[in-house]
Amino acid sequence: MSQRIAILPENLTNKIAAGEVVERPSSVIKELIENSLDAGATDISVEITAGGRRLIRVTDNGHGMSREDALLSLERHATSKIRNDSDLESILTLGFRGEALPSIASVSRFCLSTREARSLEGTEIVVEGGRVRDVKSCGMAQGTVIAVEQIFFNTPARLKFMKSSETEAGHVGDVMARLAVSRPDASFSCISDGREILRVQRSDLQRRLSQVVGKDTTSNLHRVDSGGGYVSVSGFVSGPSLVRSGPQAMFTYVNGRFVRDKVVQHAIMQAYRGVIDRGRYPVVALFIQLPAGEVDVNVHPTKHEVRFRHQSTVHDGIQAAVEGVLRFSPWLSGKPVATTSLPVPPPAQAYRERIAAAAQASLALPRREQHYPQPPVQARAEDKGTIPVSEALLPAAAVAEPQVPFQAEQRAPAAGYFSSLMVIGQFHGEYILCQSGPDLVIIDQHAASERVAFQRLKQQCREGSVESQRLLFPETVELSFSEVAVAGRFRDNLAGIGFELEHFGGNTLMIAAVPRISSEKDAIGLVREILADLAGLGTSAAFQETLDELLSRIACHSVVRGVHALENLQIRELLRSMDETEFAASCPHGRPVSHVVRLDELEKIFKRT
Ligand code: ADP
Ligand code: MG
Repeated sequence: MSQRIAILPENLTNKIAAGEVVERPSSVIKELIENSLDAGATDISVEITAGGRRLIRVTDNGHGMSREDALLSLERHATSKIRNDSDLESILTLGFRGEALPSIASVSRFCLSTREARSLEGTEIVVEGGRVRDVKSCGMAQGTVIAVEQIFFNTPARLKFMKSSETEAGHVGDVMARLAVSRPDASFSCISDGREILRVQRSDLQRRLSQVVGKDTTSNLHRVDSGGGYVSVSGFVSGPSLVRSGPQAMFTYVNGRFVRDKVVQHAIMQAYRGVIDRGRYPVVALFIQLPAGEVDVNVHPTKHEVRFRHQSTVHDGIQAAVEGVLRFSPWLSGKPVATTSLPVPPPAQAYRERIAAAAQASLALPRREQHYPQPPVQARAEDKGTIPVSEALLPAAAVAEPQVPFQAEQRAPAAGYFSSLMVIGQFHGEYILCQSGPDLVIIDQHAASERVAFQRLKQQCREGSVESQRLLFPETVELSFSEVAVAGRFRDNLAGIGFELEHFGGNTLMIAAVPRISSEKDAIGLVREILADLAGLGTSAAFQETLDELLSRIACHSVVRGVHALENLQIRELLRSMDETEFAASCPHGRPVSHVVRLDELEKIFKRT
């Protein structure tokens, strides 16, 4: 009988473990920085070339290692952080598995230099594909420097999965942002191909967030601090005027460790229900503290997922902490809180009354002076709560009313179904009521305008390129690093749909032009959404496939949302546009545009038949 089973050589098991821990350059950096923080470092600098594919170097001022420890640290399951079973129940460090260093060293050309304060000299260890090649003394400052070159050089399958340098550098930036937010008391820097993409000095959390997430956060963050109980939650959450189209600015940490956890995210989103629109995500930096034994971080080697012993208690604790802040924040007043479990504050009541009055007034079309008196710009600012300072300071040209597609030009009537309707008036500033023979036709003006804008954009795309509008005053926007990378990668494609975007250094982008049809005023919001959509994609080939989605985003930004009085002429123009475009019965998001109520249905209601 031959022997079928064999124990794998350690070099191979390390490579297998590397498959789990080391996915790409950014995961190496995460592991190395966590080690630096565990070693008490307060100053961590990272250098990468070619997105980390060619070189990753992490330098820290932590406590360093003795020669013996440095050699041991490269052995599998060698760790200074836990000793026995019970330690696993109460992990206070970021690392504990003793897997990162041997894994990384097994799939790269690796060099570890380290010096403890009490040693006169440091130790340098060179490892190649998991084999130690050289151990010698070296002169260096206290701390540790780890250089990882040619990652995956000996695992060709992995090598193929790496993306472009820009994409990998984007991931590195994102990982560093998460770590930098988690530890405002440490300074971080990152240089990518000789260019500095991040540098933050020791400071407090609020300043750190504005440096990492964007300056727009400064005046829009509210402190959360609910301590004491089983779950303690602290940090900052944004008001409704500071939202993103994806969860990329939701920094959540459990016992100091960044997590991307469904329970945590759900709890936060529950708290925001009715405060922000669906499909929007707040900016948050929340630190959730639990007794160490109440959370299992040993679920996955990358430690992004956790398991809570009392899941619903944690969920409700987080939700209550965030709700507690949202409910009492001054910006909530004046905001139309629609479907929310929160009590409606009195100012919202006043707003409702205004809507009702406006709706009544606008029913009596077409007399102009009876329309909803609120100019649209103000109405939108109100939708978002108080007007942010940055918007209030914008020059008049930039806050001009967004272009409503059907207002654009007066055209000869097109003989079509919608143009033939008899307009009765506008209902609630949101619907157009028309008559067509025995039918009552109700049109959702927002959905219809969006559909028209979408069709026009598609037409322009087919004809070559989308009409672009240069901003009078170019705007700058701060993004996640992967979004900046995406902007670079899709630069030409984006130019084709009307965007002119310039990299401004770091994670800042300058918006020089946007599609003409969209609202100039919300150029930043639009660009954010478009880039977040694209960041969710993998390869450049996918741009065409996602084109419709992007155009519908632009269309969405071209129309006035919510209550908006229309003059009779504007209504006629909208109806005409609806006939002129290759019209479908739903808005680009699939919501219906119009609805018919037949006369006999009405008669049934009124018991006439
Ligand atoms: P873990 O972090 O899970 O313990 P690693 O493989 O990441 O496992 O690291 C192994 C050990 O090497 C750590 O427990 C620590 O003692 C030591 N070490 C790693 N990086 C550093 C560093 N930057 N400074 C000091 N010690 C370090
Ligand atoms: Mg570690």
